[in-house]
Amino acid sequence: MKTILITGSSSGIGRAAAQYFWRQGWNVVATMRSPEKETELSRLDRVLVTRLDVLEKETIHHAIAKGIEHFGKIDVLLNNAGYAAIGAFEAATDLQVKRQFDVNVFGTFHTTQSILPHFRKNKGGTVINISSVGGRIAFPLLTLYHASKFAVEGFSESLFYELATQNIKVKVVEPGNVTTDFTGRSMEILTDDDLDSYRTYTETVVKKQMESFQTNISSPELIAETIYEAAIDSSDRFRYVVGEDAQFLLKMRAESTDEHFMEVISSNFS
Ligand code: NAP
Repeated sequence: MKTILITGSSSGIGRAAAQYFWRQGWNVVATMRSPEKETELSRLDRVLVTRLDVLEKETIHHAIAKGIEHFGKIDVLLNNAGYAAIGAFEAATDLQVKRQFDVNVFGTFHTTQSILPHFRKNKGGTVINISSVGGRIAFPLLTLYHASKFAVEGFSESLFYELATQNIKVKVVEPGNVTTDFTGRSMEILTDDDLDSYRTYTETVVKKQMESFQTNISSPELIAETIYEAAIDSSDRFRYVVGEDAQFLLKMRAESTDEHFMEVISSNFS
């Protein structure tokens, strides 16, 4: 029986993935920042709910050790925990800039580095990183988020080669918009009352960004299904684009010049 360890299982994609893998008969190490609040996943057999905050390295080591102790081994790591900062770059404090990278990028680095000795010992394993269509194209006012997801993409693509020598697979899942609490609990608004000259633009773009999250969206279950497809795929496929919006945007990006693509994005947000 296979085992997956998931970060950010308290909601959205991470939670849907925990339920989906469980339904497929897998063992699940469902990690989250506040496991004491979890009431549903902890009732399922083959699910170990345990604490992991990607900002606290010792919780990463502890969750991995607990998962191995409980289920014997871990086969797949799903780096899912993440959030987005939205607003003018100039408005971001040092702390906000750092936190975006600490969670989305360094969190992914630390969990990956922590599981690798176990995967090498087992002579196999799979690391799946939740990137985004926003890991390959960028929208206005999401500088920090895109920078973090572009970093996850570069990290994953390079890591793919060295881990192939260890029989460890690396894959990225790239969703478009998904119906989760991403625009609620996982959206940090960057504001600075002194930055008046961005105000009108920011209000227009943030409103349109939020509206875009209401249309052409995929369910977290669809993303979970794609993550599962990636987990059981023994081929060397690296990218899993999911959602009609993501497919459409990446196709348009591939077929356009930078100038044309950026003009389309710009006019969509004005
Ligand atoms: P979500 O429902 O808000 O879930 C985000 C999860 O990340 C929550 O479980 C949250 O835990 C967790 N988290 C945040 N900071 C953490 C930390 N320091 N340590 C551990 N966990 C932490 O949003 P979601 O849409 O499922 O997002 C999951 C992933 O999908 C993110 O990487 C996001 O960038 C990516 N994604 C989302 C969309 C979308 O449209 N929703 C599109 C593309 C990619 P708490 O409950 O403790 O806050």
